[in-house]
Amino acid sequence: MSEPRIVIIGAGPTGLGAGYRLQELGHEDWVILEANDYVGGLATSFTDEAGFTYDIGGHVMFSHYSYYDDLVDKLMEEYTELQREAWVWMEDRFIPYPFQNNIRDLEPQTVYDCVTGLLEAQRQEHNPTNFGEWVQAVMGSGIAKHFMLPYNFKVWATPAELMNFVWIGERVSVVDVNNILRNVILGEDQVSWGPNNSFRYPRQGGTGFLYNKLRTFIDHNLHLETRVASVDPVAKEVRTSDGRVWPYDVLLNTMPLNRLIGCTESVPDAVRGATEGLVWSGSHIVGVGIDRPANSTKNWIYFPEPSVPFYRVTYLSNYSPYMTPEPDQTLFLTETSRSAHKPEDADTIVERVVDGLVSTGLMEEEDRNRIATTWLCSPDMSYPVPSVGRDAALGTIQPWLREQGIWSRGRFGAWLYEIGNMDHSTMQGVEFVNQVLLGEPETVWIPRGEGGAGEGIR
Ligand SMILES: Cc1cc2nc3c(=O)[nH]c(=O)nc-3n(C[C@H](O)[C@H](O)[C@H](O)COP(=O)(O)OP(=O)(O)OC[C@H]3O[C@@H](n4cnc5c(N)ncnc54)[C@H](O)[C@@H]3O)c2cc1C
Repeated sequence: MSEPRIVIIGAGPTGLGAGYRLQELGHEDWVILEANDYVGGLATSFTDEAGFTYDIGGHVMFSHYSYYDDLVDKLMEEYTELQREAWVWMEDRFIPYPFQNNIRDLEPQTVYDCVTGLLEAQRQEHNPTNFGEWVQAVMGSGIAKHFMLPYNFKVWATPAELMNFVWIGERVSVVDVNNILRNVILGEDQVSWGPNNSFRYPRQGGTGFLYNKLRTFIDHNLHLETRVASVDPVAKEVRTSDGRVWPYDVLLNTMPLNRLIGCTESVPDAVRGATEGLVWSGSHIVGVGIDRPANSTKNWIYFPEPSVPFYRVTYLSNYSPYMTPEPDQTLFLTETSRSAHKPEDADTIVERVVDGLVSTGLMEEEDRNRIATTWLCSPDMSYPVPSVGRDAALGTIQPWLREQGIWSRGRFGAWLYEIGNMDHSTMQGVEFVNQVLLGEPETVWIPRGEGGAGEGIR
């Protein structure tokens, strides 16, 4: 197959990354089929009628790959450069992130619980079998109780004992007892911001600007409003809901893996059954625009306590002056997770978010009268949860798909949170092409097997 016909499902970062690489290599026989009338998937941005621009949750770009850096250089026009200034709000006060290195300002009892819990944990032998046990073992009972368990439940909408811990890598700042003691006894904070923690953000159009720009390279092969309804792996054909049939030699899927299997014909029972092991959460993303300046340099804040619905608030108006229609306005972007374990009523979420912004002091009571706009976006799938059974499920599903000439990559296509960011996703698309056309091995996506825990994690 020197000129395979390639069909790509989805024009999010993964599908666009693949399309970009295909055009770069001069390959011609390919299409992208996208259900929406826009590109970018979860990395899209929207501007509401009042002129405020939103991402689907705070999107910060930390690239791990030089190819992606070069691509972003090519796509970015004007941009702002920001320092990662992250905070935690708990016990009615802000403390710098990461929590575990900056506990000295908390209530004395909390500090005591955290320090003694950590020292106790360090004296024990542990063999954790899930994320909940891992937190207790590595961070101790105090940090677990006051921050890690409540915060992670708010993010994942999934109990920690149902999650694995192979995804942790650089995603969780692990604890160092000396750092904690230095913070408590010598009063030295350890903050997450500094010269190595800057990130760029498009000056106009939000994160989605990048993917709209990427679209211009692949527009002639892109079919919007073209939803894939079924896949026939025997005939090697994709059928879209408008009745059209798209033959392929190689298929790149970026829609959620469980939905792909759900609409694929002739799937063995074991593979169909394995999708039960895939767990996800959805979210309510609420934006609140206010007619007054932000009066803060914060980028985002984590909220571990259950008294407010959101787990994170981003000062989106600090990212670029063009996120708001007028100068001197503030735009908060809040994220609240939801699942069967943690239902969140859509009808009241905006009101509850505003109440939470007031109760945490981000908004003043009088700001309620200064609200210029509110915005709600409720993706039903936003986090692929690294559940205990995930790797075994993937180890059953992915090899079967490959036997059919189907590659499933990207945030929900691969279902791997640890490689589910924009840079990872775009690179999975690029590396798919490099493997199919050039025979180069993938490096970002790594197979998970029956054994699960940690296999292949870098
Ligand atoms: C709340 C939140 C916060 C995030 N924060 C960050 C961050 O700070 N930094 C970062 O790098 N990343 C972040 N991300 C992740 C980022 O959004 C993803 O990396 C990226 O969007 C994944 O791209 P993708 O193409 O794999 O999937 P998606 O963006 O999900 O795109 C998949 C595409 O497939 C299409 N599709 C689905 N079904 C069909 C069908 N049947 N037929 C045709 N098309 C279909 C969809 O419409 C969509 O366009 C965040 C995500 C969320 C939800």
